[in-house]
Amino acid sequence: MKYVYFFGNKIADGTAEMKNLLGGKGANLAEMTNLEIPVPPGFTLTTEVCTEYYKNNQNYPVELASQVNDAISQTEEVMGRKFGDPSNPLLFSVRSGARISMPGMMETVLNVGLTSRTIPGLIEKSGNPKFVYDAYRRLIMMYADVVMEKAAGVEPKDGIGIRERLEDIIDERKESKGVNLDTELDSNDWRELSEKFKATIKDVLGDEFPDDPHAQMWGGISAVFQSWNGKRAVSYRKIEGIPEEWGTAVNVQAMVFGNMGNDCSTGVAFTRNPATGDNHFFGEWLIDAQGEDVVAGIRTPNPINQWGRTEKNKDLPTLEEMWPDLYNELDGIRSNLEKHYKDMQDVEFTIESGRLWMLQTRVGKRNGVAAVKMATDMLEEGLIDQDEALIRVKPSQLDELLHPMVDPEAEVTAIKLAEGLPAGPGGASGQIVFTADDAEAWAKEGKEVILVRNETSPEDVHGMHAAEAILTAKGGMTSHAALVARGWGKCCVVGCNALNIDSHGKTMVVGEHTLIEGDVITLNGTKGVVYADELSLTQIDPGENAAFRKLMEIADKVRTLGIRTNAERPEDAAQARSFGAQGIGLCRTEHMFFDPERILAIREMIIADEEKARRTAVMKLLPYQREDFYDILKAMHDCPVTIRLLDPPLHEFVTLTENQISELASELDVEAHKLKSRIEALHELNPMLGHRGCRLGVAYPEITEMQARAIFEATAKLTEEGIKALPEVMIPLVGTYTEYDHQEEIVRRIAKEVKDESGIDFPYLVGTMIEIPRACLTADQIANKAEFFSFGTNDLTQTTFGFSRDDIGGFLPAYLEEGILPEDPFQSLDQSGVGQLVEMGVEKGRSQNNGLKIGICGEHGGDPASIDFCHRTGLDYVSCSPFRVPIARLAAAQAAISNR
Ligand code: PEP
Ligand code: MG
Repeated sequence: MKYVYFFGNKIADGTAEMKNLLGGKGANLAEMTNLEIPVPPGFTLTTEVCTEYYKNNQNYPVELASQVNDAISQTEEVMGRKFGDPSNPLLFSVRSGARISMPGMMETVLNVGLTSRTIPGLIEKSGNPKFVYDAYRRLIMMYADVVMEKAAGVEPKDGIGIRERLEDIIDERKESKGVNLDTELDSNDWRELSEKFKATIKDVLGDEFPDDPHAQMWGGISAVFQSWNGKRAVSYRKIEGIPEEWGTAVNVQAMVFGNMGNDCSTGVAFTRNPATGDNHFFGEWLIDAQGEDVVAGIRTPNPINQWGRTEKNKDLPTLEEMWPDLYNELDGIRSNLEKHYKDMQDVEFTIESGRLWMLQTRVGKRNGVAAVKMATDMLEEGLIDQDEALIRVKPSQLDELLHPMVDPEAEVTAIKLAEGLPAGPGGASGQIVFTADDAEAWAKEGKEVILVRNETSPEDVHGMHAAEAILTAKGGMTSHAALVARGWGKCCVVGCNALNIDSHGKTMVVGEHTLIEGDVITLNGTKGVVYADELSLTQIDPGENAAFRKLMEIADKVRTLGIRTNAERPEDAAQARSFGAQGIGLCRTEHMFFDPERILAIREMIIADEEKARRTAVMKLLPYQREDFYDILKAMHDCPVTIRLLDPPLHEFVTLTENQISELASELDVEAHKLKSRIEALHELNPMLGHRGCRLGVAYPEITEMQARAIFEATAKLTEEGIKALPEVMIPLVGTYTEYDHQEEIVRRIAKEVKDESGIDFPYLVGTMIEIPRACLTADQIANKAEFFSFGTNDLTQTTFGFSRDDIGGFLPAYLEEGILPEDPFQSLDQSGVGQLVEMGVEKGRSQNNGLKIGICGEHGGDPASIDFCHRTGLDYVSCSPFRVPIARLAAAQAAISNR
C-alpha cells in the first residue's frame, strides 16, 4: 500500500486529480511540480493514513515509517541538504491538507529539524544567527502549542495556553528592552528566550521539548492528524457539511525562508481580485518575514503591485517596483496557473535569497460579486465554456448581489468612527459583542450582532458564523477574518487600527468615542468604513451589474424549467418580474383580507349562520377582490398568474379578545353572546387538518363564486383594455377528485356567466394544488379534469411526515443534532420520502393527461437541491419568492447541465 507521495524537482508521484487521496494542498503541490513551477520538494501522507490512524486506535500502518524515510532521502537529494545534519541541515514544514480548504482549521509546524546539533550548522550556512534563533523559537512555540498541548489534549492551566505564556515572555523581554516590535529583538534575545521557552514548557507541560529531528517530525504529523478531530475543525466541518470520513492529508515539505534577511520575502496572492473579480493580479508581501506574518496582520503588508494599493499601504513599495524580475517571474506563474487550472488561484510564495519558490496554490475563495464577474469574464476570455461558467457560481452566492448595502445618503451625515480594509462587501448593522461565544449566544436570542475582535482565529468561527458582520482592529485582506468572511459572503471590515479593544472589559475606544457591548454600529464592508449607530441599508439593483445580467442570460438559455414567483402584491410581482420571473405560480388570496376595510366583511361572512346572510357579506368583498386581481394580473400581463382560492382555516380571521368581540358585535349589530358562541363553534383542535382549503369552498360555495367572479371580471376588464391577462384558478388542498370536480364546476359556471354578461371572451385554466398524499395517490383521477397541478410541498411535507409545519421548531434541532434528519425538510425537499409522492403525482397525472402543466409552489421552489429534483422529475416550472428568482434561474440551469 502506497501511503507516501513524493514531489520535487519537476517530478511528482501525484496529480491535481488526486485531491481525495492527497488533499487539496498535496494534490496541487504535485501538480505544480509537474508543471515545472519551482516548488520546494517534499511528500504527502495520504488521507488514507488518517482514516487508518483513527480506525486502528491512533496507530499508523506499519509500512508508513519506512515510506516516510525514503521520501526524506529523496527530498534531501533534491535540496542537497540532510535532515538532522550538523553542517548542512534540511528543515521541514508539516501541514494539514484536507480535500477542500479549511482555512486555519488545522495545525502547522514549521522549522522542524532545528536542534542543538543543527543550529550551529545553519548559523554557519546562513551567516544570520538572529534568523536561526528566531526560527528556533517559532518552532518551539508552535510545537508546544500544537503538539504538546492541543494534540495531547492538555487543558491549559488556569485557562492560559502555552502559546500565550510564551508570548508573555516575549512581551516581558520587549518591555525590559524598551522596544515595541518583535523585529527589534536580536539574536541574543531569541537564543535566551528559546532557553526560557523550553524551561517554561517543561515546567507547565511536564515534558521536554524534543531535541531530535525525527521525534519533532512525527510529533508534527500526529498533531495534524489529531487536529482533524479537534474542536474547531469539527465545528467548521459541521457548518460546511464536510464528512468526517474524508480525513486530512499531511504535507511535509522542505523549508525555504522568507525571513533570512533583506533579500528574502514572503507573500500571499490571488490571480484575480477575490473581492471584485477584476482580472488583476492581487496580493500582499512582506520583506524578511515568514508566511504567517502576512496573514497575522501585525505588520502592514506591502501590495505586490499597484492594484493592491489602499489608503493604508499607499507609501509602501510594491514587489513590482522593488524586484521587477522576480515580480515578472511570479506574474508568469500566475498566468501559467490560471491557464492550467482555468480558475482563480490563491497562492503563497517565498523568496529566499533572491530565489522564488511557490509554496501552495489552490482555487481561491471569492465572494458572490467576484464569482459572477470571474465566471463571465473567463467565458469571454475563452478560458471556460458556458456550462462551466454557470457551474462556477453557487446559487447562494447570488444572494450577495441581492444583499443590502449601506444607504450612501445616510453615510454622508453619519458619524464615521474609523476606517479599515474592505474585506467583505455589503452593509450590516448590529450590536457589538467582543467574543465569539457572546456572538453565538446573542444571535441565538434573535439579536443581530457584529463581532468585534483584535483579530480572529479559527477558534472564533462559530461566532463569526452567527454574527451579521465582523470587524477587526488588525489583519489585512488575506487575514483569517477576511478569508473566512469572504468564503461566507459576509460583511467584514479588517485592519481597523483606530480601534482600541478591551475584550475583557467589553469596551472599544475609538478616538473620542467609547462603545460598550450592545452598542449599535454599522459597517460598510464594500468601502471598509465603521459608523456609529444604525444606518439604513438599501438594496443594490443587480440589474445594473453587467456580469450578473450576462450570467442570467446564459442561465436562461440552458435551463428548461420555467421560473415563476409567489407573490400577491403588484409591487412584489413587479420586483420578481424584473428578476426574470415568467409568471406567478402562487398568489395567495387570504392576505388580501386582512386590510382593515375588508376584515369586517370577512368577519361578517364567517359569523353568518345561514347562507343568505353569508352571501350578502361575501359579496361585499367582491369589489375589493376584483381590484386586487386586476392589479396583479395587470402587473404580470402576458404571463400566467396562478390565483389560489381561499385556503386558511376561517377562525384565523376571528381570533379576538373579549373587547374586540363586543366591538365587532356592535359594528355588525348582533348580540355579543351570539357572536361569541359562533366563534367558539369555529374553534378547531387541529386547524391545519380542519376546515380549510377546498373544504371551505365546498361548505360555503359562495366564497368560491365570489373569488371566481372577481378574477374573471378583472380579466374581462383587462381584456377589454387590450391587456393580456392569463389567470389560472387554483383549488387548494384537494384530496379527492370529487372535491376538485365540485369546485371546478363552480369556477367554470362563473366564468361562463362573466363571459356572457360582458360579451368578452378570455382564456383561463382551472387546476389544483397537490399537497395531500391522497392527491398524489389518486392524481390520475384528479387529472381527468384539472388542467394543471402545483405541488404545495409545504403542506405535502407536513402531511407526509405528520410534522406540524408551525411546530417543528420544538424538535427539529434535536433531530438535526442526532442526525435523524439531514436537514429541515421544510427547507429542502425530502426527496426519498415526499419526493416519491411528487414523482407519483407527476406520473399518474400525466398518464391521464399528457399535456398536464405541473409546477411547485412550496418553499422548496427556491432551494437549489429541490430545484434539481424538480428538473429530474419533469416539472414545467418552479415558483419561489421574488428575491430567490435569480437563484432559481441559476439552479435550474445547473440542474439542466448536471442531468444532461
Ligand atoms: C404549500 O402548502 O406548499 C403551499 C404553497 O401553500 P401554503 O404554504 O400557503 O399552505
Ligand atoms: Mg398549502
